Amino acid sequence: MKNEKGSLVRPDALPEGASRPVVTPLSASVVYASDTPDMLDQQYEGALHGYTYAREGHPNADVVGLRLDRMEKAPHPGVVTASGMAAVSAVLLGLTKSGDHVIGGNQLYGRSLRMMSEDLPRLGIATSMVDPGDIAAMRAALRPETRLILIETVSNPTLRVADLEGLVALAKETGVLLVVDNTFTTPRAIKPFEWGADIVIHSITKLLAGHSDVMLGYVAARDLTLNDKLRVFTVTAGMNPSPFDCWLAERGLLSFDLRFDRAQSTASELADHLAGLPGVKRVIYPGRKDHPDHARADALLAGQFCNMVSFELDGDRSTANAFTRAADGLSFAPTLGDVGTTISHPASSSHRALTAEKRAELGMSEGFFRVSVGLEAPDVLCRVFEEAIAAALGA
Ligand SMILES: *Cc1c(COP(=O)(O)O)cnc(C)c1O
Repeated sequence: MKNEKGSLVRPDALPEGASRPVVTPLSASVVYASDTPDMLDQQYEGALHGYTYAREGHPNADVVGLRLDRMEKAPHPGVVTASGMAAVSAVLLGLTKSGDHVIGGNQLYGRSLRMMSEDLPRLGIATSMVDPGDIAAMRAALRPETRLILIETVSNPTLRVADLEGLVALAKETGVLLVVDNTFTTPRAIKPFEWGADIVIHSITKLLAGHSDVMLGYVAARDLTLNDKLRVFTVTAGMNPSPFDCWLAERGLLSFDLRFDRAQSTASELADHLAGLPGVKRVIYPGRKDHPDHARADALLAGQFCNMVSFELDGDRSTANAFTRAADGLSFAPTLGDVGTTISHPASSSHRALTAEKRAELGMSEGFFRVSVGLEAPDVLCRVFEEAIAAALGA
């Protein structure tokens, strides 16, 4: 038999040595072999650490998860999922049952809103959308069967700031779970667990991974039972992440703090620069004194006003077309958090399903743009915007 070993398909274990690689190896293996059934027992019982099948967990996911746990000060190890929407879905589908009621912020990420309006009702889960800055309205929307409230601290794309302290107090008083999607703000600006949130969600796809080449999400709960429930649901539903995406995300996370600080400081400069330009009707940046929620942003975000800036051009769709054409070299793309600055136009993308009246109600005209500021030199970026805006208004 010894002599036959070499002709088996996978005869050898990886060679072990006294040193180890500095860079996390990419573990593509879907299955993990154990020596004996006894060892497998011990693994399942938690006495031995080991992997069995990649849908249940793998080293690259754990490396990313540990980083996020530390960044968010999560009370228990969170779960890394295949996308941000997988993390949102894990909460909305894994922790509710038919007959429950769920409240969402009225300006959630588009797909989260869609799940609230289309999918939960189909499963017998009632939903309400409420302004997360209006605690009286939140209280009025509560029902005896309300299970959870899902909000984002800073809304997209109008950058309004939720009354997180009020929501935490309301959630504690009523026993409803407060779920915070922290994608926009990131733990660099706010750690929702420290404020009393029950569950934190991320789309790692955006600022955390930061290079627009990874789709991943993350979710962690304060309560151990809920945290376990989320893990089991993501495994059962197959929301597991690809090792390669985790490997890339780890690499992105190494520079996250630096990227965030740089993009944020440029965003603040760009916001002020835009506010002084002819043809710019208004600039929305939580760090500016003219922002309607500036005081709340200051209290919650501790001076970290993030990398997102919205502004409104004085013009119509043709002005908007001329602007994106003139802003050549910046990506006109419906994402955020990339190393490069991206511009999005809610009226033709994220909010296209709304009527013009409904968009106007939310403050989004055809001239409304959202900017995700990247790592360009601030003076260069300000000049590119200034020239593109001048060209659009002259067109
Ligand atoms: C992008 C985004 C999501 C969804 O994340 P994906 O990784 O694209 O699935 C959820 N919430 C917010 C706030 C987002 O920006």
